[in-house]
Amino acid sequence: MICEFCVKAILASGKPWGYHQKILSDLQTSSACVFCARLLQDVEERRATSSPPLTNAANWPLHRWSVRRPGRIRESADAVIVTFRPTSHDGDRDTGQHDEQPAVETALPERAFYLFPEEDLGHVPSQQELGVTTNLEDSGQQIKKWMQKCVTEHKYCRRHHSGDFVPTRLLAIGLPDQSRIRVIETKRHGIKGPYVTLSHCWGKDPLIKPLEITVQNQKEFMEEGITWDALPENFKQAIEVGRFLGIQHIWIDSLCIIQGPGGDFHAEASLMHQVYRNSYCNIAAADSPDCRGGLFRSRTARDVLLARYKADGTSAIFEHKAWRVVPEDFWDAELLHTIIYTRGWVFQERMLAPRLLHFAHHQIFWDCATTSACEALPSGLPQPLDTTAGTDRHWRGRLQESDSLRHRPLAGAADDSLEQFWKAAVRSYTACELTKGRDKLIAIWGIAKLVRDALGEAYGPGLWERNLEEQLAWRVVECEADGRPEEQSHVPSWSWASVRGVVEVRDRMLRWRVVRGHEGEPIAFSLVGRKPSKRVEERSDSWDEELAIMSQHLTKMEKKQQGGREASNHSTKKESQSKEVAEQGQTGSHAKADGDQPPKLQSISIPIRGHVGAAPLRRDALGGRWTLEIPECPEIGEEDGTLEVFPDVKPKFDDLGGENWYFVVLASSRLNPNNEVVSAGGAHAHGGDEKDITYTYSGVGITLKPAERDRHFYRTGALHFRGISATMWTRMHTTYCKETASPDEYKDAEGLKFWLD
Ligand SMILES: [Zn+2]
Ligand SMILES: [Zn+2]
Repeated sequence: MICEFCVKAILASGKPWGYHQKILSDLQTSSACVFCARLLQDVEERRATSSPPLTNAANWPLHRWSVRRPGRIRESADAVIVTFRPTSHDGDRDTGQHDEQPAVETALPERAFYLFPEEDLGHVPSQQELGVTTNLEDSGQQIKKWMQKCVTEHKYCRRHHSGDFVPTRLLAIGLPDQSRIRVIETKRHGIKGPYVTLSHCWGKDPLIKPLEITVQNQKEFMEEGITWDALPENFKQAIEVGRFLGIQHIWIDSLCIIQGPGGDFHAEASLMHQVYRNSYCNIAAADSPDCRGGLFRSRTARDVLLARYKADGTSAIFEHKAWRVVPEDFWDAELLHTIIYTRGWVFQERMLAPRLLHFAHHQIFWDCATTSACEALPSGLPQPLDTTAGTDRHWRGRLQESDSLRHRPLAGAADDSLEQFWKAAVRSYTACELTKGRDKLIAIWGIAKLVRDALGEAYGPGLWERNLEEQLAWRVVECEADGRPEEQSHVPSWSWASVRGVVEVRDRMLRWRVVRGHEGEPIAFSLVGRKPSKRVEERSDSWDEELAIMSQHLTKMEKKQQGGREASNHSTKKESQSKEVAEQGQTGSHAKADGDQPPKLQSISIPIRGHVGAAPLRRDALGGRWTLEIPECPEIGEEDGTLEVFPDVKPKFDDLGGENWYFVVLASSRLNPNNEVVSAGGAHAHGGDEKDITYTYSGVGITLKPAERDRHFYRTGALHFRGISATMWTRMHTTYCKETASPDEYKDAEGLKFWLD
């Protein structure tokens, strides 16, 4: 519902904005109001986490509300947006007392709600239709409707389930004797599917582990079966859903992969992406922290029904229509923030399954490659709120057909490229909590494999072969960890899988390779069973031009390139075709060489030749940003560009005592005053040229610390710079850390020969 105050003062007021004059006690009394309840929840969370406790909070908070109706663009739904922005009691004026009394208001989030005309939302269920639980009696009809529509009408969802892949083992759930559930070997019984799958949390407490199949009990589980009562609640209810859908088999990890010593976890875990990708429907126990929680929930209609506002015409914006309120973050808050989707392991299950039934706290959610819906909005999410779910659906569809990944241009619309998908996938994946002891890389391997097969390029631990220079400069978005997690200590420091926290991968767009591998080749990791390919370089469109600029250091290289340049001048048109062929050929050989197994590194060390510099790390007092103080360069202001360090783990106090951090620039672009990348030109790589003054440099690098072995380094952070002057750029390359390096190890033009571990 919406409280009388919010109706009168906001919706029916006819005004575009005003103050929500409600202090804490008022909010508490109107906690049934969709707006007030959310604001109250934010305030309470803020109070619970603030230390010291907030004083003088009696006349707090105050929100400024605004109502706006965005212009309609073609098919977008008609909507009105009501926004609540926390503000201080003096209105918008800044009191300037932030230091003594932190502005509590700023810690409260802004909240937005969408109001949609009821008539545009399709069928909106009544309280009675929803029923008081999410079990099959109350919600089964809706599940059937979604499934029916998807199977018969969704062109994009129908083409799968070819039966090409069947998991090694399945549970037979369609047999007449339902008191026992048998594990069956699909090959031996000639089972082809279809089957459903279960996504669930195992729980943190080892004492309440789900029932497992082991070497000891497998004979019993296969011959006599498991008694119904022995099954945990999650399994029982998932089996009920599977039967309800008319499916005879279900795949549950703990009962279909032989666990413990002598089991086949390693072989089967790398097949997991196939299991979920070929599932008829994935059933997610979204609200259950461990195996006992089950899928079904009881609920009150108020938890599910969308608040309704029947406008009386007093406000022109709302006319006489009936409206429904949906919080802007509805999909995130109700589904993606449920217990299960905070777990990293489940990320690929959600992306790879062709359709999903998520059993959440208040209602069931539906997802396929065509529709994202829930019981409150069974026809689907209205367009403006469908962004996250819509992107996921798009990729769910494309990952179903990895062939289509290949046939589409890789550099299409910016948000449609595989690169963008990978970037988004890493970001959401690293935002999840990873269960201790489980390999972070295995849990994203299923997605990586499909992308790899489509890109036709080698995949190392979380990074791709091409333009590894930029990729090595991934950053931890908000560095809060004190150290790298112990359980990932086998992962090299240059992989983001070695750190905690949300990770952002760099776009691969920079043109200048500032460093090279030892042999003059691009920097590369070495995989077991694969030679580093030179193809990588051929794909970089203007590489040969860039190389000329960097001439100093590679005369040998240049000669090689000239041959290539002449060849490519003749065949600009054909180039793209031959690239595609090369890619496909590559893919084929990958599939044979590596199959479904994640790649293994031959060595964790990446050989590099580059200018390792040293500079003190400083913290900018206002913004809290980390920066390197490049020697003999004046401190840079905003107008001089930015140079920022993103540490992998929180720098300790010692690191700030003027101690030097090692760093190396990996790739950069030179920009003219119009911010265009200057790709050609014979300017000296190390600046100093008069003309060069007007150019700026943008690029990436990493910070380093010495490892145990001589001339080996660990990565400690990312270094990103934008719009810096030629002087600064030059200094970054001449702050050499020559130290004790011999002439063979260190050359003025090429820098130091070192390894990144
Ligand atoms: Zn209210
Ligand atoms: Zn569908």
